[in-house]
Amino acid sequence: MKCLPGRGFLHCMSTKMVMRFRMHRFELPTQHPVYLQPAMKVIVIIPAAGLGTRMAPMPSALDAKTKTKRPHPSKQFTNLAGTPILIHTLGKFGAVDAVSEIWIALRENEIEAFRARLPKEAGDVLKKKKVELVVGGEHRQQSVEQALNAVSAAPDDIVLVHDAVRPLVTTEIIEQVIDAAKKYRAAIAGLPAVDTVKQVERTAEGAIVKSTIPRAGIVLAQTPQGFHYSVIKNAFDEAAADGFMGTDEASLAERSGHEVAVVMGSPRNIKITTPADMELAEFYFGK
Ligand code: C5P
Repeated sequence: MKCLPGRGFLHCMSTKMVMRFRMHRFELPTQHPVYLQPAMKVIVIIPAAGLGTRMAPMPSALDAKTKTKRPHPSKQFTNLAGTPILIHTLGKFGAVDAVSEIWIALRENEIEAFRARLPKEAGDVLKKKKVELVVGGEHRQQSVEQALNAVSAAPDDIVLVHDAVRPLVTTEIIEQVIDAAKKYRAAIAGLPAVDTVKQVERTAEGAIVKSTIPRAGIVLAQTPQGFHYSVIKNAFDEAAADGFMGTDEASLAERSGHEVAVVMGSPRNIKITTPADMELAEFYFGK
């Protein structure tokens, strides 16, 4: 074996060594390097199977000709700035590049009508994302669970859950929750409390203050809430086994022992619950 100055590295090897080196160089390793592995999926679940009983009949529920009341649409189908709230919400997630699939949980009797409206009202989203409809449950948690049981995901894929009736969420908040969920495995959008928070006891006449909770330690949870699929799936399985019912997904992850990170939400990311919220949402959409 000779090493020829200026002739390159391979000239310093015997023919056998060169063959081995070449084979080694071009052999595919059995474990794919990170950059060849498929990207982490982001799956969005939108529970939209509520009745919206705290929403009094909207003016639109009055038939213009007969002035009689028609059954008003569920809250998520109420028009906001001329478009159903759910379509606004769907559009917000449809606009986020990282999102690959959107699963919507609906009341069984509303599924076919909504499916028929999708191409016309959310055609742009359908072109970019896989959109699936599933039958929701009696409670919000069951609606999310039905969708969670239907998705197919790897343990590290990200699942985002977002209330159908929070149409004012922004791309920035969605992306920040996705990033935090990737990093911490569980993350929510939240807002620091600005009002003083009281612990009360309810009585027949009203409520009696029992204590004041230091405001500095209070965050009001919003959605989206994001998790590694393995975290949220285990949390839901444990909650189902124990018969636990929470008011958000993070509470299920917390009781499974997971730390949940908080990213800054927005005062505009309201959950439309009452007619007053609807007025505020109309105002924000008009701006
Ligand atoms: O009931 P609440 O106002 O907290 O509802 C939040 C979200 O959960 C809404 O988007 C609503 O449609 C949804 N939900 C659901 N299934 C239920 C009850 C509520 O998907 N059974």
